[in-house]
Amino acid sequence: MRGARPYRVLWLQSGGCGGCSMSLLNAEQPDLYTLLSAHGVELVWHPSLSESCGDDFLRLLADLESGREPFDALCLEGSVMRGPNGSGRFHQLAGSGRSMMEVIAGLAGRARHVLAIGSCAAFGGVTAAGGNLAEACGLQYEGEVAGGLLGAGWRSRGGLPVINVAGCPTHPAWVTDTLAQLARDELPEERLDALGRPRDYTDHLVHHGCPRNEYYEYKASAERPSDLGCMMENLGCLGTQARADCNIRPWNGGGSCLRGGYACINCTAPGFEEPGHAFAETPKIAGIPIGLPTDMPKAWFVALASLSKAATPRRLKVNAVADHVRVTPGASAPGRGKKGRS
Ligand code: SF4
Ligand code: SF4
Repeated sequence: MRGARPYRVLWLQSGGCGGCSMSLLNAEQPDLYTLLSAHGVELVWHPSLSESCGDDFLRLLADLESGREPFDALCLEGSVMRGPNGSGRFHQLAGSGRSMMEVIAGLAGRARHVLAIGSCAAFGGVTAAGGNLAEACGLQYEGEVAGGLLGAGWRSRGGLPVINVAGCPTHPAWVTDTLAQLARDELPEERLDALGRPRDYTDHLVHHGCPRNEYYEYKASAERPSDLGCMMENLGCLGTQARADCNIRPWNGGGSCLRGGYACINCTAPGFEEPGHAFAETPKIAGIPIGLPTDMPKAWFVALASLSKAATPRRLKVNAVADHVRVTPGASAPGRGKKGRS
């Protein structure tokens, strides 16, 4: 925190489902408000968590826009909807006669820091899928192309590009940690990755810490959603490519997509919403997954996979295609295990 003044955050919602706010409310140990106040962060206004609405809100907005009411960070949840034909009139701010697009751009110019909360606000996300009739885009990206509403070279008053706290939804701690760092002036640009995402969570792969890693090592693959095996080969898991710490910093005290039996669909990346195939399918050429693990040349992967498959212990082979452990680990000392175990 800078001095005694709190770091003041204005949160707006635009073209999204509200899931990132729902996710934020799952902050725990401590809860959201305790956490924010511990870091000197004050929520100036949030559409679901604040009482003021209607004319009260419009007065507050006018004060924020004019500078009479100070604020530090603008958090936008949801994409910017520019349609039809770039007018922004598909999404008006109720009671104001103004497009959200115009309001967001004006407030972004006033804020010290601007955060895109979730993949819609960062890249367009699900709202931009299909024919994108809403002309949805992110604050500073349109898919993986820099630009979006504010433009590729845009910088906030604090000197940073839009901070893309991407995820669909985003993890509550990715948001609160980022706000805490900004409040302490401890988030330099080098701590953002090439897509403007905080490296605190994108320096990791979802694969790190996945409870299915033993199956991955031996290429013991799940065939159906309820199976225990690795979901990369058949069920579309992108955990070896997805940049996030979901299995290191589990969600809601202990969960992750993988722990819940769902393949990672790389929701922190631009374009995740349209992979060009069913999410739970792994596209392959000649039996080899097209999307190979990050940093691994194809030839190595093929060689490693065939070696691993040849060496897969029976326990993993059986359990990979079962919905509960059928074969337990053998005893570590010779002569102490039961026959039939591996
Ligand atoms: S299921 Fe996905 S994240 Fe888990 S071990 Fe397999 S590839 Fe990695
Ligand atoms: S495991 Fe993958 S799909 Fe699930 S939240 Fe993390 S990055 Fe998104």
